[in-house]
Amino acid sequence: MKIQDIKIGKINTPLRQPYKVGKRFLNFSDEIVIKMVTDTGEVGYGSASPTPFITGETESSIIGAIKYIKPEIIGLDIDNIEEIMKVIHSSIHGNNSAKAAIDVAIYDLLCKKYGVPLYKFLGGYRTSLTTDLTISNDTVEQMVTKSLEAVMAGYTCLKVKIGNDRARDIERVKAVRKAVRRGIKIRVDANQGWSPKEAVSTIRKFEDMGLDIEFVEQPVNAWDIDGLKYVTDNVETKILADEAVFGPSDAFKIIEKRAADLISIKLMKCGGINNAIKIYNMAENMGIRCMMGCMLESRIGITAATSFAASKSNMIKADLDTMLLFEHDAVIGGACITGNTITLNDSPGLGIADIIGWNEIF
Ligand code: MG
Repeated sequence: MKIQDIKIGKINTPLRQPYKVGKRFLNFSDEIVIKMVTDTGEVGYGSASPTPFITGETESSIIGAIKYIKPEIIGLDIDNIEEIMKVIHSSIHGNNSAKAAIDVAIYDLLCKKYGVPLYKFLGGYRTSLTTDLTISNDTVEQMVTKSLEAVMAGYTCLKVKIGNDRARDIERVKAVRKAVRRGIKIRVDANQGWSPKEAVSTIRKFEDMGLDIEFVEQPVNAWDIDGLKYVTDNVETKILADEAVFGPSDAFKIIEKRAADLISIKLMKCGGINNAIKIYNMAENMGIRCMMGCMLESRIGITAATSFAASKSNMIKADLDTMLLFEHDAVIGGACITGNTITLNDSPGLGIADIIGWNEIF
């Protein structure tokens, strides 16, 4: 089975309510979705969600990178995954979301060839995951209302986004904790919002107030590994590295320095499943547990991420709730989300049958 073509297309999905990404509010999710076609007529799916303020990639840069990589891998045998990945990762620097779309389509095809679902191919540890629900950074009242709605809807874990105003950050987390019962887990994402000293003093306040925070995600700037370690060493609450870990070399630095207690793996950050395996293996060997995360991704990316996370025993947390933000679902097949549970099926590969409204652009 050889790669014959990569058709680049787009899906545009309306969101239930405006979603804040960086400084922009989105009403639609625009995703680049590829169909990788083989000489045997099989189709593999992959997607890339542009998240410029985190990955530096825009819609047009993703399209450009896929077009750039495409001629390098045409004609390669899908069985030689090592060769294909070497070519992809040496062809162009960065562009990890574009690479992730190609990588996922290749794994989809490989699994289809052998008739095995992706999660089984990668390890097969479990068939479903429980995801948290993100409570966006907003007024205290709005965040409390959204948290209560989430708990009423059956969510047992809330990810509270803060980090833009330290005094209000404490107020927000305190109010959410007061509103929900103790059994509900609260994790906090500061999205690089604090200096290392601010992070330590804020997290210690959470501790002194007994807010029972499961972990704090990326308290300081992504580049500040020493700052991240300072925070990790000076609070009792667990610290998770998100924006600080893109590829395997970032993960190595964090693990070597013990700069964080947990690592977040996202396919859009690391360039796909092949690199996710490398990060996972390092973390697992060194006793660092991992969370699976995602960008604003449809069922294609969520199925790939869930398949990876479900397949591995050390992927113990999941933040994969973005499908719930979509007004309708363009993707037929793949993972199924019911309440806070994402369940995989046993169709080969990702199990995606079709994508409604997919527009070929190149
Ligand atoms: Mg994060």
